[in-house]
Amino acid sequence: MNENRISPQIPLVNVQRQYELIRAELLAETDRLFASGSYIQGPYAKKFEEAASKLFGFKHVAACGNGTAAVSVLLRAHKIGPGDEVIIPNMTFIATAESVIDVGATPIYCDVKPSDYTIDPEQITKKLTSKTKAIIPVHLFGHACDMKAIAEIARANSLVIIEDCAQAHLTRYQNTLVGTQYGGGAFSFYPGKNLGAFGDAGMIGSNSAEIDDFCRRFIDHGRSAKYQHEFIGFNHRMDAIQALVLLKKIEFLPKWTERRRTVANLYKKTLEAKGFKCVNALPDSESSWHLFTVEVGNRDAAVLAMQSQGIGVGVHYPIPLHQQPAVKKTSPVRDSDFPISNRACTRLMSLPLCGEIRDHEVDQILDVFLKVAQATR
Ligand SMILES: *Cc1c(COP(=O)(O)O)cnc(C)c1O
Repeated sequence: MNENRISPQIPLVNVQRQYELIRAELLAETDRLFASGSYIQGPYAKKFEEAASKLFGFKHVAACGNGTAAVSVLLRAHKIGPGDEVIIPNMTFIATAESVIDVGATPIYCDVKPSDYTIDPEQITKKLTSKTKAIIPVHLFGHACDMKAIAEIARANSLVIIEDCAQAHLTRYQNTLVGTQYGGGAFSFYPGKNLGAFGDAGMIGSNSAEIDDFCRRFIDHGRSAKYQHEFIGFNHRMDAIQALVLLKKIEFLPKWTERRRTVANLYKKTLEAKGFKCVNALPDSESSWHLFTVEVGNRDAAVLAMQSQGIGVGVHYPIPLHQQPAVKKTSPVRDSDFPISNRACTRLMSLPLCGEIRDHEVDQILDVFLKVAQATR
């Protein structure tokens, strides 16, 4: 990485513009928060949990420290641990695998579908063993997984479904918000996510009082009262300052999501007309468009060309999980089991997209892209 690289003119996600929207109010309230002396969880976290459970469609929401912890704590709540196998896609951020390993279970990697790069239900059935206890569908790039097929496999084999919704804020599948129908949804509010804090933060959504109760206590040292601990938990609490930021931002999320959908559809229409292959999210779903990805024949050259013209494109992901050195050491797998993700990792690139992107920026991005990128078919 070149340390002197100037920040792009059009970044992948423009979080600074989000700040401008809430700046005056946030600064005034931050002063009140700092003066209050209540810096961890507290009233802002409670208010955020209420707002989030309404908007994301959960009976219960537990604010927590980050999205990785959210997945891991949900696995614990469902008593997944040593000796258990958990099926996950191999095209995801490493955190999905880490959370499985964190609870002492074994991640079993599974290839993805070529249409939307989410986990392939047909491949899941090939990975089932007597030790399989759970599936973690990842709604990658904001696109809903094929939950109907996954739920059928889970039902037939008595498996828990925990949804990794870190990229899928307000994604809908068959008219339901993702995360709300099965064992719970784990969300990340890492700054670059569709709803981002000013640091690390996450949440666990569920419709079970029992799961919610476990998660809340686990996150806060397993405590039931100030110095009373029913079991050994951990510290995965959300800071009050992050809760305040999220509380101010959450009201913009529906509008930002709409804007992402509009721009993504425009990208798609323009690029497909020029022969590019873009993602086809399931017809009965509404993506949150965390990322807009397109297949490019000369991917690496096109990425460099766009970056040199000040456009902050990204690559998600350059290396599929099964090829990561960290994973190779713990879960040796056959490379030939992953033809779709192997191919995707050499061809996909992500164009800038966020709720505050402007029309002239979209035009400029498309202009440069069409000059430097080659279609794959
Ligand atoms: C961001 C992300 C996570 C982890 O979230 P953190 O808040 O960074 O811990 C987990 N899964 C996926 C798919 C993600 O994109």
